[in-house]
Amino acid sequence: MNLIYLKEEHQMIREAVREFAEKEVEPGEVDRDATMEFPLDLVEKMRELALLGIPFPEEWGGAGLDNLAYTIAVEELSRVSGSLGLTLAAHTSLGTSPIYEFGTEDQKRRFVPKLASGEMLGAFALTEPNAGSDAQGTQTTAVRDGDDWIINGQKVFCTNGGYAGTIIFTALTSREPKQISAFIVEKGTPGLVYGKKEDKLGCRASDTHVIHFEDCRVPNANLVGGESELGKGFKFFMKTLDGGRISIGAMALGIAQGALDKAIPFVRERRQFGKPIGSFQGVAFRLADMETEIQAARHLLYHCAWLKDTGQPLEHQSAMAKLFASEVAMRAADSAIQVLGACGYMREYHVERYLRDAKLCEIGEGTSEIQRLVISRHLLGRLT
Ligand SMILES: Cc1cc2nc3c(=O)[nH]c(=O)nc-3n(C[C@H](O)[C@H](O)[C@H](O)COP(=O)(O)OP(=O)(O)OC[C@H]3O[C@@H](n4cnc5c(N)ncnc54)[C@H](O)[C@@H]3O)c2cc1C
Repeated sequence: MNLIYLKEEHQMIREAVREFAEKEVEPGEVDRDATMEFPLDLVEKMRELALLGIPFPEEWGGAGLDNLAYTIAVEELSRVSGSLGLTLAAHTSLGTSPIYEFGTEDQKRRFVPKLASGEMLGAFALTEPNAGSDAQGTQTTAVRDGDDWIINGQKVFCTNGGYAGTIIFTALTSREPKQISAFIVEKGTPGLVYGKKEDKLGCRASDTHVIHFEDCRVPNANLVGGESELGKGFKFFMKTLDGGRISIGAMALGIAQGALDKAIPFVRERRQFGKPIGSFQGVAFRLADMETEIQAARHLLYHCAWLKDTGQPLEHQSAMAKLFASEVAMRAADSAIQVLGACGYMREYHVERYLRDAKLCEIGEGTSEIQRLVISRHLLGRLT
C-alpha cells in the first residue's frame, strides 16, 4: 500500500516485525494458545529489536520513531499473534504513554527509560468490578498519610499486570466532591497483591490479572503529574485511551490481514468439483470483501496515527478506527474459517484463533457500544 505519509522507515519496521513474527512467533503460537504461557523469551526478543518503545524519543530510551511506525508494528505482530500484539499495545500505549505524557520530570526520569527500552513492562489499571464502561465508577481509594498514599481496592482484567514493573492506576482521592487521581505503583510494593490470572477466550498468551491493593503505600512522588494534577486522573486516562484505541485497532487490522493471508493460498490450492475453490465466486467474493474492508480500516488507522503524530485531536477518529477495524477483524476471521471449511475449524490452521483473538478488540479499551457513544456524542453533543 503506497500512502503519501508512509516513509522508508515504516517499510523497514514492517519488514523487520513481519520477519520476527513469522520466524519466531508463529511456530509456538498454537501451543501457547493452549497452555496460556506468557512468552517472556519473545518479550525479551522484542526488547532486543527495540519494539518496546517505538514512539518514544531515543533520549527517553525509545526507538525515536512515530506512532505510524508503532501502529504498523502492532499490526504486523497481530497478523501472527493477537496475544503479542496486545502485550505490546498495553505496554506502550497504556503502560508507558501516560507516564511520558502526564508524568512529572522526576516520574518520567525514573520510569520511562526503563519502560521504553523494555527493561520492564508497563500496565494500566482502570477497570474495576463495578467500573467497566462507566470508568468513573472507580471505588479504589487513596488516602493521604504523610508523604504516602494508602491504597485500597481492586482492579480487574489488567493486561501485563502479573509481569509489569509499573502499573499506572486510578483511585478516588475524594468522594465528595468526587475526585479521581492517577498513581504509579511499582512491582514489589508491599500491599500490591496479585489475584488470579484470567483464563480467556482469546489472546490467551497475553497476561490478564486481577490486582488487589491492600493498604498499599504509594509515595506522593508517584502521584501522576504531582500535587497540581490531583483529581486529573480520569482525564489523563481518557486521553490515554484515545491514543490506545489506535493500537487495539491496529491489532484488529493485523488479525484481519492474517486471516486473509491464510485464506488466499488455501483457496488457490484446495480443489473441489475439479477446480480450485477460489474459482467459485461465492468464495472469491468473500476475499474481495475482506481486502476492501481491510484497506478501509488501514486508512482510518494510519490517518489516526498521523493525527496523533501531528498533535491533532483524535477522540472520535480513534473511536471510529477502532470500532470499524474490530468489526472488520471479526468478519475477516469468520470468512477465513468459512473458506477453509473444516480445516478452518481446526487449531493448527490458526484462523479459529484469529476469531477468538479478534473478539477482544470489540471489548477492550471501550466496547463497540462505547465507541458508538463517543462518535454519536461528537455528532450530536449530549442530548438531555
Ligand atoms: C483481555 C482483556 C484485557 C483487558 N485489559 C485491560 C487493561 O489492561 N486495563 C484495564 O483497565 N481494563 C482492561 N480490560 C477491561 C476492558 O477495558 C473492559 O472490559 C471494557 O471497558 C468493558 O467493561 P466491562 O467488561 O465491565 O463491561 P460493562 O461495562 O459491564 O458492559 C457490558 C455490556 O454493556 C454495554 N454497555 C455498558 N454501558 C453502555 C452504554 N452506556 N450504552 C450501551 N451499551 C453499554 C457494553 O457495551 C457491553 O456490551 C480488558 C478486558 C479484556 C477482555
